[in-house]
Amino acid sequence: FNHELQRSEKMEIISELAASVAHEVRNPLQVTRGFMQLLAENSKQTEKEYFGLALKELDRASGIITDFLTFAKPELEHETRLNVYEELKHVKGILLPLANLSGGTIELDDAKELYITGNSSKLKQAMINIVKNSIEALDGEGMIRIWAYAKSGEVVIHIQDDGIGMEAGDLERLGEAYFSNKSKGTGLGLMVTFRIIEAMRGTVHFISEKGSGTEAIIRFPSVPDSVEV
Ligand code: ADP
Ligand code: MG
Repeated sequence: FNHELQRSEKMEIISELAASVAHEVRNPLQVTRGFMQLLAENSKQTEKEYFGLALKELDRASGIITDFLTFAKPELEHETRLNVYEELKHVKGILLPLANLSGGTIELDDAKELYITGNSSKLKQAMINIVKNSIEALDGEGMIRIWAYAKSGEVVIHIQDDGIGMEAGDLERLGEAYFSNKSKGTGLGLMVTFRIIEAMRGTVHFISEKGSGTEAIIRFPSVPDSVEV
């Protein structure tokens, strides 16, 4: 028992540290990026190449923070009853500007009474990483649809896009660390998502077809006051 207590205290210290690192490091990275871009504009070809490489590494560092720590909060281990649609609304609110930027849209179904148990920050991080992939898969115009319902004691969340889709071989590798097909990818987003969902006693399943789109289906044990379909 004593050992467990120490472990959770350690977890709390680690997550508190992670939250402040995420916050404190992102700004200087952005400032550095701005100055390097300026310098790159006024430099010779070889120097331009070095600046290009440095900028790429800076973006990678930002990407890692985004994939792991967008919602890093001190209360990492704190679990409460979560209103699924409230969480989904928040995720949509954060990512809609990014989707709109490239001409895409995000449509969230009408709210239903759905509840699960978990940590709000972690759940949002898990969803963000999936929806962000969908936005990146749209490659400009396109639609992301999100809906959820309760059935047979489970809350089921669907996140569907009509983006580029995946080959069967890619589907098999989802969640593998550093697996990425993107020039600016970290290959860590889905690994984080899978771990969070697993820790919440949930499952995630992907269906995809090259050229027509991808659908993520996430299931969590439902809390009794969810209204089933
Ligand atoms: P990253 O986004 O940094 O590449 P992820 O772990 O988030 O890493 O995703 C891994 C890979 O899975 C992506 O590079 C992409 O090839 C593929 N992928 C994930 N989601 C989708 C999606 N919705 N549509 C198409 N490909 C996807
Ligand atoms: Mg990603």
